[in-house]
Amino acid sequence: DIVTPMPESQAELAFEGALRPKSLAEFVGQSKVRAQLELLLQAASMQNRTPDHILLAGPPGLGKTTLAMIVAHESGRQLRMSSGPAIQHAGDLAALLSSLLPGEVLFIDEIHRMARSAEEMLYLAMEDFRIDIMVGKGAGATSIPLDLAPFTLVGATTRAGLLPNPLRDRFGFTAHLEFYSDGELEQVITRAAHMLELRIDSGSLAEIAGRSRGTPRIANRLLRRVRDYSLVHRSDGLEAVNAALKLYDVDERGLDRLDRAVLMTVLQRFDGGPVGLGTLAASVGEEAETIESVVEPFLVRVGLITRTPRGRVATRSAWEHFGLSPQAAGHS
Ligand code: ATP
Repeated sequence: DIVTPMPESQAELAFEGALRPKSLAEFVGQSKVRAQLELLLQAASMQNRTPDHILLAGPPGLGKTTLAMIVAHESGRQLRMSSGPAIQHAGDLAALLSSLLPGEVLFIDEIHRMARSAEEMLYLAMEDFRIDIMVGKGAGATSIPLDLAPFTLVGATTRAGLLPNPLRDRFGFTAHLEFYSDGELEQVITRAAHMLELRIDSGSLAEIAGRSRGTPRIANRLLRRVRDYSLVHRSDGLEAVNAALKLYDVDERGLDRLDRAVLMTVLQRFDGGPVGLGTLAASVGEEAETIESVVEPFLVRVGLITRTPRGRVATRSAWEHFGLSPQAAGHS
């Protein structure tokens, strides 16, 4: 996981699953998206039809998988899970689609990474619940139409803009997930602490929430690292929180190593910017997509970076965060 490279055992991953809220009512935050989904599901249920296809867009760990599970659960349907990288040929998708039972919810994570040929097949499947299967090669090739059971597609992507327009247009609704407020994250980990049977004071919960990059998955993870620290070092309260987060390279504002590497590159190598995305990615040795979909959204949201037509620029608050000052004149 690029966001927080922390050790994660099988047991912990299973636990992450157990922490997932099962219904929209239990789902913390994202009130707009929740209301939008609620309406969509309710209308479909009143008309006894499958809900429209749903696209969930936003940085990792904000609850896309959780919402897909909730959509299936709330509409009393089965969830089938796949991901873009697993669909490398149209045939992979054809096999998946033709095995769906009526009304099932198909979740495709990282849908922007699906093969092109599969994308084209998906257009027709989403629109008419039908696909054309190509049989044979060359001049003798024929296409055989195949009817599918009606289904609801839930696609997840880090950015809706990564999808080709024809695919994006076929979703009845696109939910843009936002970073969570500190208060919302506090609710998420208070619930998790309860499930873990942890005794942890509210000040510590607030501190962890405030340093979790607006992301529930990170908040849950940091909570477990603080628990480990308390257990091993027999320490608790803010002292344990600060020590544990320091050990895992999470700074006072919740920035992780990659966030800091990106910021330091803009500040020190490019004198605060502007610097283009490609150059920036190459300088920190990361994929441009990771910088743009994972790192930047948070840095922009907390006001450390701005995006300009000429590239990324560090803000005054970024300089201050590292106790640096612009070298050349003319920067702020
Ligand atoms: P990815 O795109 O990387 O799969 P995601 O956006 O699908 O990430 P999830 O796996 O759904 O994220 O959520 C990560 C964890 O955060 C889950 O274990 C879940 O317990 C918790 N979580 C996410 N959203 C919420 C929420 N709104 N309320 C409570 N817990 C949440």
